[in-house]
Amino acid sequence: MAKPTGFLEYVRQTAPKRPVPQRVQDWREVEGHLPDGTLREQAARCMDCGIPFCHAFGCPLANRIPEFNEMVYRGDWERALEFLHATNNFPEITGRVCPAPCEAACTLSIGAEPVTIRQVELAVVERGWREGLIGPERPHRRTGRRVVVVGSGPAGLAAAQQLARAGHEVVVFEKSPHPGGILRYGIPDFKLEKWVLDRRLDQMRAEGVAFETGVAVGDDVSMRYLAGKFDAVLLAVGAEQPRDLTIPGRGLEGIHFAMDFLVQQNRRVAGEDVPDDDAIWAAGRKVVVVGGGDTGSDCVGTARRQGAAAVTQIELLPEPPAQRSADCPWPAWPTIKRTSSSHEEGCERLWSVLTKEFIGHGGIDVHGLRCVRIAWSEPDADGRRSFEEVPDSEFHLEADLVLLALGFVHVRHGSMVTEAGLATDDRGNLKVDAHGMTSREGVFAASDCVHGASLVVRAIAGGRQVAEHIDDYLRGDDE
Ligand SMILES: Cc1cc2nc3c(=O)[nH]c(=O)nc-3n(C[C@H](O)[C@H](O)[C@H](O)COP(=O)(O)OP(=O)(O)OC[C@H]3O[C@@H](n4cnc5c(N)ncnc54)[C@H](O)[C@@H]3O)c2cc1C
Ligand code: SF4
Repeated sequence: MAKPTGFLEYVRQTAPKRPVPQRVQDWREVEGHLPDGTLREQAARCMDCGIPFCHAFGCPLANRIPEFNEMVYRGDWERALEFLHATNNFPEITGRVCPAPCEAACTLSIGAEPVTIRQVELAVVERGWREGLIGPERPHRRTGRRVVVVGSGPAGLAAAQQLARAGHEVVVFEKSPHPGGILRYGIPDFKLEKWVLDRRLDQMRAEGVAFETGVAVGDDVSMRYLAGKFDAVLLAVGAEQPRDLTIPGRGLEGIHFAMDFLVQQNRRVAGEDVPDDDAIWAAGRKVVVVGGGDTGSDCVGTARRQGAAAVTQIELLPEPPAQRSADCPWPAWPTIKRTSSSHEEGCERLWSVLTKEFIGHGGIDVHGLRCVRIAWSEPDADGRRSFEEVPDSEFHLEADLVLLALGFVHVRHGSMVTEAGLATDDRGNLKVDAHGMTSREGVFAASDCVHGASLVVRAIAGGRQVAEHIDDYLRGDDE
C-alpha cells in the first residue's frame, strides 16, 4: 500500500492548463504536468482497496493501478514503469487522452475526489523516456511467421508491437501518409502532440515492425494478395463511416463532416500539404458544430484556433446533470456534463435541439440552421427515451460553416470488405468469433471496426487481445 493515511492527508490535484488567451494562439498541448513531488503525494492517496475497481472494472486494459501508485509513492519509478508497460503499450498516449474510466471507478470517488490516476500514469512513462528506460524490446527468437496488420490506429499499433515482440515478422499497411490513425489525423495536437506518437513508432521500427504507408488495402493491394503472402491478416481499420444528417439543405456548400475538418488541420500542423481549393477553414466564420460529443469538442477547439467569429455546439440529447445520478451508481461511468478544455476556450452549448433544415444563400452556400427545441420523456422499462418537439420553439442559428460530429456508424464497407466477402453484424461492423477471427480463415479483426467507435484505451486493449489470438493461431500451426 502507498500510505495508509494518504487519502486523509492530501487533496486531489490535477495538472494545470495553459491560460486560454495564450493557448488559443498555438496548437501545442493545453495540459501541463504536475511536479514529481506532488505526484508522489497524489499516488499516496491510493487506498490499495481489497477489490481495486479502478483496475478490475474501470480500466479496459486492467492497468495495475494500486501497484504503480505504491511504487511512485516509494520513489521506485522504474518498477512503476514495469507495472505500467505490463498491460499498456502506449501509456504516454492514454496518459494524455484517456477519459480515465478508472478514476470514475476509484473507491475514493464515492465520498471524495478520486486519485489522479491518469496523471500518475503520464508522469511514470514520461520519466521513463527521459531517463532512457524505454528502448526496443526485441524478441529472443524469431518464429518465421508473417503477419500483416491493416490500419495503424492504436489497435493496429498495439497488436503489431505485441506480435513483433512475440517473434513474428510484422508489416503494417496504412492508407494515410503516416501511421497513427485517429491519434495522428483525428485528435488535435492541443490534446496530443505528434512527436509523442513518433517517439513510440521509432521504438516499434527498432523492434522490427515495418510500415507501408499510402497503401489502401482493397484498392492498391488486394486481400487475396495479402492472404497469399502472410500467415495471418489483422484488420484494425477503425469505424470510419460517419453518421450523416440527411435533412433538406444537406447539399449546400459549407457543410462538412468533422473528420474532414480535423484531418486537414492536423495535416497543416504537421507541415503536410492541404490544397487551398479543398480547404475547410473557420477563420472569420460563424461555426455550428452539430453533435455534442468529444469529436465535436475537438472541432470547437480547432475552429477557435483558426479564428472563428463564433462557435456554437448543439446536441439532440438533454443537458446532463452536473453530478452522478441515482440511476448511474458508482463504479459505472457516469453520464454527467463534461466541460472540455475546448469548451473553456469559448463556445455556446445548446442541448435538446433538433435541426430541421440547413438554409442557404441562393441555394448554394449554407447560411444557417432551422432548429426546434425538443422535450425528452422519462426512460421506459427498457431505459429508452423518446422526444417531442416543443410547440412554437423554432429558431434560426446563423452559420457559414457547419461541422457534422454525429459519430460513426460502422467500418467503411469499401472494396476491402466486399472483395474478401467479410460477414458483418446487424450494426454493420465486422463479425468475429470468440478468437477475433472474421468469417475468413486466418483474417482477424479488432477494435472500432468490430465494436463500433470507442476509446483509445479500448483500442489498445482490443489490439493486445487479438494479438494473443493470432499468436495462438500461428503457434497452433507448428503443432
Ligand atoms: C476526432 C476524434 C477524437 C477522439 N478523441 C479521443 C480521445 O481524446 N480519447 C479517446 O480515448 N478516444 C478518442 N477518440 C476515439 C479513438 O481515437 C478511437 O476509438 C481509436 O482511435 C480507434 O482505434 P482503431 O485502431 O480501432 O482505429 P483508427 O484509429 O480509426 O485507425 C484505423 C486506421 O486504419 C486505416 N485504414 C482504414 N481502412 C484502410 C485500408 N483499406 N487500408 C489501409 N489502411 C486503412 C485508417 O487510415 C486508420 O489509420 C477520438 C475519435 C475521434 C474521431
Ligand atoms: S489507460 Fe485510462 S482507464 Fe486505464 S489507468 Fe490509464 S487513464 Fe485509467
